[in-house]
Amino acid sequence: MNCYNCGKSMQIATYSIDGFPYCCWNCYQEKREQRRKVKAKEVQFYSETAKSLVNTQRHKILKFLEYKCIEYVGKNQYICKPIPDYNSTTYALKKVGNDFECSCQAFQKAKSASSYFFCSHIGALMEFFARGQVYA
Ligand SMILES: [Zn+2]
Ligand SMILES: [Zn+2]
Repeated sequence: MNCYNCGKSMQIATYSIDGFPYCCWNCYQEKREQRRKVKAKEVQFYSETAKSLVNTQRHKILKFLEYKCIEYVGKNQYICKPIPDYNSTTYALKKVGNDFECSCQAFQKAKSASSYFFCSHIGALMEFFARGQVYA
């Protein structure tokens, strides 16, 4: 097996933490710090974007938040449930690379035209992160 941080090959893991093998305590500390930084950066990115979203979308986004439509369903996936009496579809929000993709038509259409675009569901997810919710 190899150390999860430095890649050094080992007969047995000196440390096995959270299911990952490490050759030394330093390697574990280093990896943990690295992962913490990545997480913090992502949340920051989403809050910046959420702040700069245009006002027309903003109203709908806040409605999604008000009705607690965003839910974490595991494995970097969220769902955006419908706003009561407004729409009736639940959309899936899946993490792809550093971004999220939505299953709604508007997003899929923009994606096939290869222009990056935030639909209101992704906007709601970003607002959700901006309010201090982090990846579970
Ligand atoms: Zn190591
Ligand atoms: Zn969408």
